[in-house]
Amino acid sequence: MHRLKNLTRFTTTHHRFTTTPTLSSLHHFTTTTGSPSLSPAAGLGPTKKTEKPRVVVLGSGWAGCRLMKGIDTSLYDVVCVSPRNHMVFTPLLASTCVGTLEFRSVAEPIARIQPAISTEPGSYFFLANCQKVDTDNHEIHCQTISTDGLQTLDPMDFKVSYDKLVIASGAEASTFGIKGVKEHAIFLREVHHAQEIRRKLLLNLMLSDVPGVSDDEKRRLLHCVVVGGGPTGVEFSGELSDFIMKDVHKRYSHVKDYIHVTLIEANDILSSFDDRLRVYATKQLTKLNNNNQFVSNVCRIGVDDWLRVPSAPDVFAIGDCSGYLESTGKPTLPALAQVAEREGKYLAALLNNLGKAGGGHANGGGDMELGEAFVYKHLGSMATVGSYKALVDLRQSKEAKGVSIAGFASWFIWRSAYLTRVVSWRNRFYVAINWLTTFVFGRDISRI
Ligand SMILES: Cc1cc2nc3c(=O)[nH]c(=O)nc-3n(C[C@H](O)[C@H](O)[C@H](O)COP(=O)(O)OP(=O)(O)OC[C@H]3O[C@@H](n4cnc5c(N)ncnc54)[C@H](O)[C@@H]3O)c2cc1C
Repeated sequence: MHRLKNLTRFTTTHHRFTTTPTLSSLHHFTTTTGSPSLSPAAGLGPTKKTEKPRVVVLGSGWAGCRLMKGIDTSLYDVVCVSPRNHMVFTPLLASTCVGTLEFRSVAEPIARIQPAISTEPGSYFFLANCQKVDTDNHEIHCQTISTDGLQTLDPMDFKVSYDKLVIASGAEASTFGIKGVKEHAIFLREVHHAQEIRRKLLLNLMLSDVPGVSDDEKRRLLHCVVVGGGPTGVEFSGELSDFIMKDVHKRYSHVKDYIHVTLIEANDILSSFDDRLRVYATKQLTKLNNNNQFVSNVCRIGVDDWLRVPSAPDVFAIGDCSGYLESTGKPTLPALAQVAEREGKYLAALLNNLGKAGGGHANGGGDMELGEAFVYKHLGSMATVGSYKALVDLRQSKEAKGVSIAGFASWFIWRSAYLTRVVSWRNRFYVAINWLTTFVFGRDISRI
C-alpha cells in the first residue's frame, strides 16, 4: 500500500526541506488500528463522476477555516475532520486567560464560517482526528475523539474518501526536550488551555489569602513563570501585569505584594521585531533571563509553489504544518496566522478554478494550468505589552526599512486591527463589549 511516507521533514523554521517528501506517515498521526465495533464500510466512499467532488480538510485552524470559507460549495462538497468544532482566534487568546475577554469571544464555530457543512447533504464536519492518509486509495483513516470520561461513545474508526485533500493540521506544541513540561506546565494554544490557566490563577490567589499560609508559600503560589519571549509570551505577560496592577491590587490587596511574573527567554524577546521596539518591550516587562539553549525542531510537510505535496496526487498542505521544499528555492514561511490565512485563501481560489475547469475529481486536473504560484508578502507584526501599550512593526523583514512604532498609538492600532480581523460580527461585538466591560468594571474574578 502506498501510504504517506515522510510527508514531514525535520527542519527549523529558518531552513528549507532537504529532501522531496515521499509517503509514510504524517507527523503526530499514529498508525491506524481497526475498531472491532465498526463495520469496515463505515465512512464516506468515493464520489461518482455525476456527483460533486469532495474536498476533505484536516483541521479547523486559521488555514483550514479560511480555505473552507473560500471554497465554492456549488462546485464541491466539503468535509472537515478536526478534534475541535471551532476556530480559535489565537491573537486574542492570551486576553482570555485573565478575563479581559471571555472564552467564547475568541472561538468561532466552523458552521458559521462554512454553513454548507451543516446544510448541504454531502458536506460534513466530523469531530475526529485523522490518523492515516492512504494516498493510493484516496482516503483518510480517522478516529472520533475521546470523550474525556463522559462515556457518550467509545472511540470509533471510520474512513473518508477524498477527491482533494487539504492538510491544515497545524504544528505540534514543542517541549524543546525539557523534562516535566507536559506534566507541570500549561501550553497556550487552545481555549481549554486558557480556561485552565485562569482557573489556576484565581485558585492560587484565593488559597494564598487563607490564614496560616506562610509567606514563602504565598510567593510560590503567586509566582507565574512564562516560558518563551515571542509575541505570545510577551502578550500573555503583559495581560498578567495588567491583571495584577488593576485587579489584584484592588481585589486581593492582602496578597498583592507576593505576586510576580517571570518571563524566560533563551535569546532576545520578540526577536523578529525592530531592536528599538524590543528594548521598549523589555522595559515594560519584568524579565529574568536564563541560559537554556532551546532547540527548535519543527516538522513540516514539504510543498511546491502551488502548495501541493508533489509525491501525493490531490494532496495539499497549508499553514503551520507545511513548508516549501528546497527545490522551490523559497525559505520556510513563519508560523503565523497571516501566513496560514493567506495560504487558505489562495488554495480555495486554486481549487475553485480547478473545479470550474472540470478537474475537481480525484486524479483530475493533473495536467491543467494552476495559475500563479503562491506568493507571501509580510504585512508586519504587532504585540501588546500591557498598560495600554503595544508594538507595531510594519517592515516586511527585519532588515527592511519601514514604520515601527511603540506606545499608546500602537496599542490603539493593535486593538483596532484585531477587532476588524475577528471572523464574525457576533464575535466582533462580543470582543468590543468585553473590552468595554473590563475597562468600566474590571476583570471578572469569580472562579467558576
Ligand atoms: C496564543 C497564540 C497567539 C498567537 N498570536 C498570533 C498573532 O498575533 N499573529 C499571528 O500571525 N499568529 C499568531 N499565532 C500563530 C497562529 O495562531 C498560527 O500560526 C496559526 O494558528 C496556524 O494556523 P494553522 O491552521 O496552520 O494551525 P492551527 O490554527 O493550529 O490549526 C490546526 C488545526 O488542526 C487540528 N488538528 C490537529 N491534529 C489533527 C488531526 N490529526 N486530524 C485533524 N485535525 C487535526 C487542530 O485541532 C486545529 O483545529 C498565535 C498562536 C498562539 C498559540
